[in-house]
Amino acid sequence: MTPILRFAPSPTGRLHLGNVRTAIVNWLYARKSGGRLMLRIDDTDLQRSTAAHAAAIETDLTWLGLDWDLFARQSDRFAAYDAAADRLRASGRLYPCFETPEELDLKRKLQQTRGRPPIYDRAALKLTPHEIEARLRHGEKPTWRFKLERGRIAWDDMVRGAVEFHAENLSDPVLIKADGQPLYTLSSVVDDVEFAVTHIIRGEDHVANTAVQIQLFQALGGTVPTFGHFSLIADASGGKLSKRAGSISLENLRDDGIEPMSILSLLAKLGTSDPIEIRTDRARLIEEFEIGKFGRSQPKLDIVELEHLNGKLMHLLSFADVADRLPAGADAAFWDAVRGNLLRVGDAAPWWDVVQGPVTPVTGDADFLTTAAGLLPAGPLDQTSWSTWTGAVKEATGRKGRDLFLPLRLALTGVDHGPELARLLPLIGRERALGRLAGHAA
Ligand code: GLU
Repeated sequence: MTPILRFAPSPTGRLHLGNVRTAIVNWLYARKSGGRLMLRIDDTDLQRSTAAHAAAIETDLTWLGLDWDLFARQSDRFAAYDAAADRLRASGRLYPCFETPEELDLKRKLQQTRGRPPIYDRAALKLTPHEIEARLRHGEKPTWRFKLERGRIAWDDMVRGAVEFHAENLSDPVLIKADGQPLYTLSSVVDDVEFAVTHIIRGEDHVANTAVQIQLFQALGGTVPTFGHFSLIADASGGKLSKRAGSISLENLRDDGIEPMSILSLLAKLGTSDPIEIRTDRARLIEEFEIGKFGRSQPKLDIVELEHLNGKLMHLLSFADVADRLPAGADAAFWDAVRGNLLRVGDAAPWWDVVQGPVTPVTGDADFLTTAAGLLPAGPLDQTSWSTWTGAVKEATGRKGRDLFLPLRLALTGVDHGPELARLLPLIGRERALGRLAGHAA
């Protein structure tokens, strides 16, 4: 049986690290298993969903290099949800409730003061068919709840192992709002049944939904898929990535110069038993993926880690990988010279300015620099020139280590840190180097 998975974001905002992780894990599972992945846009909430956000989700996933084989948009499928609701009504599993939100709130508060869990008391089930009909005739708009069957709901979770709920501890969920809009709990299961989804992998915030949805799969005559719920990401201080994660959108990361492979390398492994290491190709991540490697403990994420991975990636990217994002004129020798010092491709540009000049040299020790200038090897400068040169300067002046190298770096680049001078010097070239050593902006 070919596994069928889905990633089902709600287009109410940009993708952030939390839901991108869900996308990545489902994609990896599908690709590893030879299965198919559906992108399902969960846009039944017409007030909060926008077409722009839906389009941005596709852009974000494509930028990451994730593809999908099937596509569905829930707003195209209201008829299917209505039909499913009708079937549930016919089988007595969907019942109308006329309580106002205020009444429900009051009930919950009373339960709370009595130390009871806030479970819906099923008062609406006591209404007679006659009463229901009369209230509907009067134009009252009920919400419709799914009647859970009492008893144990259990499944073998791909991440959490044996999970068990008791329906008595769950509220009958509202499936249809008073305005007739189907809610996620229903639309999701209708689609999972219709598109024959075999594996649902999502965050542990959906565990209780799963218990309810399992009964819904059964009530709709569908096959219950295999579930996996991974632990949610915590930020470095251990708090939930809620508001903060919202700010860490994929868009922000992309604008900040974080590469797709850095994000994929991190999120494919976060919360698994594998170490987090930079990978340069998706095939390797697919090969290494195993849903069983995800553990139950909550993974911590310090966003700085992502920047470190990005820096590691710079060492591994070739000139061809980045050429179109480097300043005009920058060549492979330049990229090879600077990439080890970068956290992001965009950080290369200032070094191109250093190479091209003009640089205002820092020349505290003019006599020393004059001596050094006189010793610059003759002929074109190459990668061996630096060691030949500094060897000669060392011999002539008796300086070594920092005393020898730092004044040269400050004069040649105007700053006290940066890429290896052995590689930069040939790029700076004789003329500019001599100018800078003489204290001129060159
Ligand atoms: N639209 C739901 C969400 O974003 C999908 C959850 C699910 O995977 O079923 O939370």
